[in-house]
Amino acid sequence: MRFELTGEQDQIREMVRSLARKEFAPKAAEIDEKSRYPEENLKRLAELGLLGMLIPESHGGSDAGAVAYAIALAEVAGGCASTGVGMAVANMAGEAIYRFGSEEQKRRFLPLLVSGTEAGAFALTEPSAGSDAFGISTVAVPDGDTYVLKGSKSFITNGSRAGVAIVMAVTQKEPKKRISAFLVESETRGISHGKPENKMGLRGSNTVSLSFDDCRVPKRNLLGEEGEGFRIAMKTLDGGRVGIASQSIGIARAAIEAAISYARERRQFGNPIADFQAIQWMIADSATELDAAWLLTLRAAYRKDTGNPFTREASVAKVFASEAGYRACHRAVQIFGGYGYMREYPVERHLRDIKVTSIYEGTSEIQRTVIARDLLGQGHR
Ligand SMILES: Cc1cc2nc3c(=O)[nH]c(=O)nc-3n(C[C@H](O)[C@H](O)[C@H](O)COP(=O)(O)OP(=O)(O)OC[C@H]3O[C@@H](n4cnc5c(N)ncnc54)[C@H](O)[C@@H]3O)c2cc1C
Repeated sequence: MRFELTGEQDQIREMVRSLARKEFAPKAAEIDEKSRYPEENLKRLAELGLLGMLIPESHGGSDAGAVAYAIALAEVAGGCASTGVGMAVANMAGEAIYRFGSEEQKRRFLPLLVSGTEAGAFALTEPSAGSDAFGISTVAVPDGDTYVLKGSKSFITNGSRAGVAIVMAVTQKEPKKRISAFLVESETRGISHGKPENKMGLRGSNTVSLSFDDCRVPKRNLLGEEGEGFRIAMKTLDGGRVGIASQSIGIARAAIEAAISYARERRQFGNPIADFQAIQWMIADSATELDAAWLLTLRAAYRKDTGNPFTREASVAKVFASEAGYRACHRAVQIFGGYGYMREYPVERHLRDIKVTSIYEGTSEIQRTVIARDLLGQGHR
């Protein structure tokens, strides 16, 4: 067993680390303050091939693999978490189209996503169906050479920016409910979106509701087979969850680094606060948990790269990394004392940004359910 990155993975890490620290981190507070979509950052990621890391070169991607993607995403999220989520959704939507799409769909949509010409979105959640994703009620009824979509989605990342959204809708209610996935283009008549959500964190990311009012989607935009949509959604989320774990780690690492340098400078009782054991233990606990989170994340990504089942490993990584990362951000605010509570310092933003990682793409409670079901032999591998 080797605990080393390949030369290529190492190079990607160095390149993205430098980009995230020099270009993204200095603007992250302004992006958060103004709730500004970090368009220029996403363009930079596209130029460097970081929006198509899970897509082969034959389709315009950089085919770097899941481990390299985890490394890059952690670096980006550490610089600017709102940029990180944009990168994650672009890669996730592109990978789903690559894995489940027809040749024609790949040719049509992948170059747009990979080049950052258009953003992608993944629309599963509805007002009455969050954790219970199978409970969605948006319907798609066949009519001639189209499906007619009716219903609404909530909290969709990139919802009003995406050129194409992967939308899950019910195509059969009886005798057995079946869900299908559709590639819905933003120009399609009948789609509308709500105003951007006023969020606690990730304030630069675009989160909106989407409504489909007799929205006609051509049959050629069905992704995969009819009735295969739920499986596509779950498979896509498996990979997505490794990405969320990476985001958590990147954000938490940034918080720990800020706390360490503050602890060295801030003096109380005549000494740097870094000399107090209470502070040292907070730093040590955060670093230890982050190490464990990182190893779990790399394991899930490695299993994905090597074609092994990784559903449980992805959930283990996500639940642990998001919760450990939250604790690390919380401790970082504590280490900063009153200054940690102020907007001038980055740690309160890290704490706000990281909170959602234990909520989206399946809450911590749902991850525990996935893990337990797998161990109890009730899950699907
Ligand atoms: C910023 C942001 C971006 C998002 N982006 C997207 C996106 O791009 N696409 C998309 O489709 N969705 C997106 N979501 C939605 C997100 O995936 C859901 O919010 C999440 O899955 C939880 O669903 P819910 O909010 O309806 O909570 P609920 O499902 O109502 O859960 C409420 C609480 O009940 C708990 N709970 C529910 N069921 C169980 C159970 N069986 N056992 C134990 N506890 C349970 C939950 O864990 C939670 O604590 C986003 C959300 C946010 C906040």
